[in-house]
Amino acid sequence: PVRPAESESAAELAFEGALRPGTLAEFVGQPKVRTQLELLLRAAALQNRTPDHILLAGPPGLGKTTLAYIVATEAGAPIRLTSGPALQHAGDLASVLSSLVPGEVLFIDEIHRMARTAEEMLYLAMEDYRIDIMVGKGAGATSVPLELAPFTVVGATTRAGLLPTPLRDRFGFTAHLEFYGTDDLETVLTRAATLLELDIDAIAIAEIAGRSRGTPRIANRLLRRVRDYALVHDTPADEEAARHALRVYDVDSLGLDRLDRAVLDVLITRFSGGPVGVRTLAVTVGEEAETVESVVEPFLVRVGLIARTQRGRVATPAAYAHLGHEFPQRHAG
Ligand code: ADP
Repeated sequence: PVRPAESESAAELAFEGALRPGTLAEFVGQPKVRTQLELLLRAAALQNRTPDHILLAGPPGLGKTTLAYIVATEAGAPIRLTSGPALQHAGDLASVLSSLVPGEVLFIDEIHRMARTAEEMLYLAMEDYRIDIMVGKGAGATSVPLELAPFTVVGATTRAGLLPTPLRDRFGFTAHLEFYGTDDLETVLTRAATLLELDIDAIAIAEIAGRSRGTPRIANRLLRRVRDYALVHDTPADEEAARHALRVYDVDSLGLDRLDRAVLDVLITRFSGGPVGVRTLAVTVGEEAETVESVVEPFLVRVGLIARTQRGRVATPAAYAHLGHEFPQRHAG
């Protein structure tokens, strides 16, 4: 099942594209990643070579695709987009790689979902700008080396740990994107409102920022919902409009969505608050383990509702309070 906040219609994609910052300077927050990327890009420019391969790790909606575009812009290079699921055979990758122009940025989204054979071809391509192409079949098959133009891979993954070590080692630099603080989200929203020519007050912006799961994509989408609400009800885009709109879309006071709450609820009511493994939680709520591990859990940990322990995940007292349950005094007496 697709998370409601993550479903992508053409309109949503166009909307996202319109709000994408175009340069590192416009990219909000993540100061460490920005400094690291800036250094890497400057060094490459000074030496007149293509930048090192870059791996971007972090939950969806934190700006990985945006950064890939920025890398291309800052390097003055064209960008080609593909994704792990689209590379199910080595041949798929070979045709992409052999058509790259010198210096091109190859963005591979969900790079951890690439087929094994494509992955092996990518190691060699990233290291030596070379691939081996199999010609012929059976006993007469031979491999023919093919030289490639120098290029930069920008890989995106929800968790760097999902990548096999040999692939991870081919990246000169791995950036770990963190959830955004409320201040940064307010900046993202203010910028988006200006681009959308939406007159919205500061309290409404703060209200949306506080409920965006630390995620710019969600912030921008909620802003759009508030705009819809104000339009339909012919009211100003103020705090009240924000509250109403957020209630309509099932976003709670901490920004938790339905899946976040389902996971917490199961943890508390079915597993007595834990400890329990993430996979068991995922199966119980009927969601893919990867989604729970890379999207739900990191956020719930970050806001202090779940704690990681050696034996599994446990619900914190704050989680009980948030869902309106009483925290059991397990060790009393
Ligand atoms: P990811 O590839 O990590 O899923 P995207 O790069 O597609 O995320 O970002 C999703 C949306 O959030 C885009 O519309 C982008 O404009 C916005 N966004 C993400 N990060 C930032 C940022 N640091 N500053 C401003 N907008 C951002």
